[in-house]
Amino acid sequence: MKLMRHGPKGQEKPALVDRQGRVRDLSGELADISAATLTPQGLQRLRALNVDALPVVAQPGRIAPPWAGCEKFVCIGLNYADHAAESGLPLPKEPIVFMKPISARVGPNDPVVLPQGSVKSDWEVELGVVIGAKARYVSEADALQHVAGYCVVNDVSEREYQIERGGTWDKGKGCDTFGPVGPWLVTADEVGDPQALDMWLDVNGRRFQTGNTRTMIFGVAQLVSYVSRFMTLYPGDLISTGTPPGVGMGVKPESVFLKPGDTMHLSIQGLGEQVQAVHAWDPALIDG
Ligand code: ZN
Repeated sequence: MKLMRHGPKGQEKPALVDRQGRVRDLSGELADISAATLTPQGLQRLRALNVDALPVVAQPGRIAPPWAGCEKFVCIGLNYADHAAESGLPLPKEPIVFMKPISARVGPNDPVVLPQGSVKSDWEVELGVVIGAKARYVSEADALQHVAGYCVVNDVSEREYQIERGGTWDKGKGCDTFGPVGPWLVTADEVGDPQALDMWLDVNGRRFQTGNTRTMIFGVAQLVSYVSRFMTLYPGDLISTGTPPGVGMGVKPESVFLKPGDTMHLSIQGLGEQVQAVHAWDPALIDG
């Protein structure tokens, strides 16, 4: 299943995408796509619906993050060997874990707003893993049973804040609008092997990132197991699993960074596409 939400901020409605690509309204069945919806029981209930009987949404409007009730936005750094190389950093011996605040999370096509004075904002297409069952000290063998599905994430990153200004990476990762998610949450059964997905990202029509989840250093099962040793993962929590090569910071001979007026376009195989316009600082675009 492809689950999604649409509508203005604070008024999102639940929907799913049918086999023909039409948006079908779920608001007669559910108040929202919440953490409870993503549990095995919640998904089972949706699978039992007669999709053809659901109303078609002709004009979905704004696409929102595909589920509500996300309480953690965990990210993994340097999880592709060739991205670590372009960043000039050694391969991590254990996964690098950092967090984005939930306030950074926006819809897949919402504006990306540069923080005041930002000159080194960058892009990162990533596979997002959405938890569907409580995970605490789970083994790698059992880890994927705790995954509800997958989504596209753009781990937008301010490199000056992240790398040059001391302290943790969070300063450059948590800015408002720096976490586009969606357009869909595609359930794990439909995705199949999460380590065989092509991914790409363009800026202004130029291809910068090309990759495949098979080149992750730590795979999805390892990451879910690993993170579950440090915090309990609950339904609705999100783990973004790192980015392949081709970020702006790594462009030779000179880095390329985002500027107002740019457009990012990114996708992962089977998970849909995101398009974001980059804007100069404007709080109305964040709150709108
Ligand atoms: Zn990242």
